Amino acid sequence: MSRVFNFCAGPAAIPTAVLDRASAELASWHGKGLSIMEMSHRSSDYVGVADKAEQDLRDLMNIPANYKVLFMQGGASSQFTMIPMNLLRGKTTADYINTGQWSKKAIAEAKRYCDVNVVASTEENNFTSAPKQAELKLNPNAAYVHYCPNETIGGVAFDYIPDCGDVPLVADFSSAILSHEIDVSKFAMIYAGAQKNIGPAGLCVVIIRDDLLGDTLAGTPTMFDYQVCADNASMYNTPSTYSWYLAGLVFEWLKEQGGVSAIAEVNLRKAQKLYAFIDANPFYANPVAINNRSIMNVPFTLADESLEKQFLQESEQAGLLNLAGHRSVGGMRASIYNAVTEAAVDALIDFMAMFAKKHS
Ligand SMILES: *Cc1c(COP(=O)(O)O)cnc(C)c1O
Repeated sequence: MSRVFNFCAGPAAIPTAVLDRASAELASWHGKGLSIMEMSHRSSDYVGVADKAEQDLRDLMNIPANYKVLFMQGGASSQFTMIPMNLLRGKTTADYINTGQWSKKAIAEAKRYCDVNVVASTEENNFTSAPKQAELKLNPNAAYVHYCPNETIGGVAFDYIPDCGDVPLVADFSSAILSHEIDVSKFAMIYAGAQKNIGPAGLCVVIIRDDLLGDTLAGTPTMFDYQVCADNASMYNTPSTYSWYLAGLVFEWLKEQGGVSAIAEVNLRKAQKLYAFIDANPFYANPVAINNRSIMNVPFTLADESLEKQFLQESEQAGLLNLAGHRSVGGMRASIYNAVTEAAVDALIDFMAMFAKKHS
């Protein structure tokens, strides 16, 4: 079966080897005569799958024992609500760093529950950089600090982990989780919608330090309470069983690739090649400050905007899909997550070179 090169920002590419395995065991999981989707989430077979996925993620990210791993629903966007509900813990103000569209959505939602202190914003430069540590006007009494280490739409990444002293640090890692090694112990909470770098939509992974559970805001829905989720091993209700299973296959695949440090090297090579090509070719441009360029999401513009439609049409004909930028910003964007191979990036660069030559 032929597969295209898929640069979609999300739902994004999934490794072909994972899809092949899932399809081989779709109708009859491990010879049991039924699919994993048709099993009780409380069966020992399914619980085995779920536990292994968690353990593999713990191994891959070196998650300390005092952190819970939750497999939740409602996407990363529901976390924008759950974070203030769970982490205000009697306080009335929280710090947020604003580096793009996802930061803004998190801020707008938090404002429904507390005073939001925007400790730095790069909106004035159209979100083409991340603020430096010295620019963060942190409030030592904030309930927590929230930021987005990799802004998926603008292709802007932090090149450091903010130091907030004793204030819990919360990070929306939706588009960068598992792309490079991170020290989980520096964070109070990490969350990520699965459909970027983990697997299918319908699942959101939450990694949270266990002393932050409980003491939720009055009126917090049961389903939004991290403590309830943790106490029930993410099975207070029926979880997104197929997404969880498929995420587990992706974790196994990633281990086979040599883990996060190995894939990080490939990711860096992919990104460096693409940025080097864009910088060297006057037909293309990327507006992001060099130190803040994302290794996962690479936005770029064409010197002649009127050629955008043609670029998208011809790239699609060449088997390179989903290169349009986010509807809010336009231009182009190549998302080059873990499952996007180096061959895909090479093919993209070849196409871009050919297209530029034809139109320069
Ligand atoms: C995609 C994305 C989201 C939203 O995810 P949903 O699962 O669609 O709610 C939030 N934050 C970041 C950084 C994203 O990339």
